Amino acid sequence: MNALGLLYQGKAKSAYLTEDQDLLILKFRDDTSAFDGEVVQQLFGKGAINNQFNAFILRKLAENGIPTHFVERLNSTDVLVKRLDMIPVECVVRNRAAGSLIRRLGIDEGKIFDPPLFELFLKNDALHDPMITEHHVEAFGWATRDEMECMYKLTLQANSILKVIFDDAGLHLVDFKLEFGRFYGEIVLGDEFSPDGCRLWDKVTGEKKDKDRFRQNLGGILEAYYEVADRLGIVFDD
Ligand code: C5P
Repeated sequence: MNALGLLYQGKAKSAYLTEDQDLLILKFRDDTSAFDGEVVQQLFGKGAINNQFNAFILRKLAENGIPTHFVERLNSTDVLVKRLDMIPVECVVRNRAAGSLIRRLGIDEGKIFDPPLFELFLKNDALHDPMITEHHVEAFGWATRDEMECMYKLTLQANSILKVIFDDAGLHLVDFKLEFGRFYGEIVLGDEFSPDGCRLWDKVTGEKKDKDRFRQNLGGILEAYYEVADRLGIVFDD
């Protein structure tokens, strides 16, 4: 499968059309951005790490009954995916308090949520991804009530699956963000799952092993991503 024209360029990935109208090639780039794209830096090799990380996680989710857009990893940075009609809503699930939640509500980092907390954000950098509710999603026609219910269920199901996988690797899955789209009427998980879009804390030391190392200028970003991949048993083939 060959990449034809560029369809769109996101902050960390580019999407290319293919000869099959139902398939796209996503290229994971080394660009690392924070604060709605205001800070961008190249981290050499990050695209390849995230491509393989994402393939590992999306396969695990698919094995456990979550429909995903993943078809096949093509090379170090490229993955073949189903072309979804994306829903412009970010589904965030939180097992512990961190990030925007503690800024918004003034609570201590690390507070445990059981059951997990589910939040929605509009995917819009210019508006700084404002928080929304399922009522906004329905009122603005971004998704139907049934589609929203499906995204909610799939996000919590993914959380149950991934919490165990990361726990076995000595990591707390603090929170993460998922994006969904439609494929012939079915709600399917799109975008990516990598340390760029989740928070992972070492269970013993509490050390951050995710993109917060970039956001908070802690250094050792790719070292942390490699360490997480290694603990999950991901073997880098290139
Ligand atoms: O910033 P906030 O605390 O709301 O982020 C919650 C989770 O969603 C974090 O794991 C973060 O990495 C992820 N996220 C993301 N892309 C965004 C916003 C949040 O991957 N645009």
